[in-house]
Amino acid sequence: MNTPRLIDGKAASARVLEQVRREVGELLAQAVQPALAVILVGGDPASQVYVRNKILRADEVGIRSQEHRLPGDTSTEQLLNLIKGLNDDSSINGILLQLPLPAQIDELRALEAIDPRKDVDGFHSENVGGLSQGRDVLAPCTPSGCLHLLEQTCGDLRGKHAVVVGRSNIVGKPMAALLLKADCSVTVLHSRSHDAQALCRQADIVIAAVGRAGLIDASWLKPGAVVIDVGINRIDTGNGSRLVGDVDFANALPQVSAITPVPGGVGPMTIAFLMKNTVIAARQQHQAQRNQSEAVCHSIY
Ligand code: NAD
Repeated sequence: MNTPRLIDGKAASARVLEQVRREVGELLAQAVQPALAVILVGGDPASQVYVRNKILRADEVGIRSQEHRLPGDTSTEQLLNLIKGLNDDSSINGILLQLPLPAQIDELRALEAIDPRKDVDGFHSENVGGLSQGRDVLAPCTPSGCLHLLEQTCGDLRGKHAVVVGRSNIVGKPMAALLLKADCSVTVLHSRSHDAQALCRQADIVIAAVGRAGLIDASWLKPGAVVIDVGINRIDTGNGSRLVGDVDFANALPQVSAITPVPGGVGPMTIAFLMKNTVIAARQQHQAQRNQSEAVCHSIY
């Protein structure tokens, strides 16, 4: 077998961001500046880092950003009020509600309150439903990033057997929907699956999204499989800690044809696709406004 290829998410995300920057430039030329509002409720340290990175990246590609920090004891109604204001603000194109939310907040109500046209995380049921019907909607960022890496690595995905390990609403399920849309044969495995290892060993493509360090080793993989590791797990190294994926990287490496490292694989793709979704949302909203004004003109003349 050829030497396994490391799938470089940093380089791939830099290319996506470069494309986004160009598209922002095209919109600016039409006097439209895409704008993203990020909402953070409470002081979760990891969420603060994620939000800071999203704001930084937005600034770098020319997207205007707004950060809304709410205290940890915010009620669902207070959050809904903020979301309503952002929905009504025509200068805001994308709304991102950083998860997880404090326990007192009704997460589903909050996500459903976001205008689907501004739902750059793709979690609103209208976008979830559209994706499952194979329509072009705002799709969740992490699985979109994984699909992009797979297309860059494998080329044509049609007919390939993809196994998605994990069935969460934010990664596993939308990943399966995107792979089906790309004409893969898709198997979804989860904590109640029987013979998960044997089923996974049949896959041409494996997407690991579980949250268990090193769960998937060579015994789960067909020789030559392409592996995308979404997992981010912090493990104790005795004298500190480090981040690892759901795949036992060293053990799996000789078995695969290509694999994403952790860190430096899927992680950077998530933010890149958030920026891409914000530009898509801005372009669609701008187009809808133009169509509306043209319709008004036609009705006058
Ligand atoms: P989750 O806890 O919501 O879902 C985990 C899924 O794994 C569940 O569907 C569960 O059924 C399944 N599972 C648990 N044990 C299993 C087993 N033994 N065999 C098969 N399936 C099993 O997690 P999530 O939000 O989907 O995140 C998964 C991982 O991806 C986490 O490590 C998370 O940190 C990471 N993540 C990374 C990014 C990124 O940008 N790289 C984004 C989101 C999530």
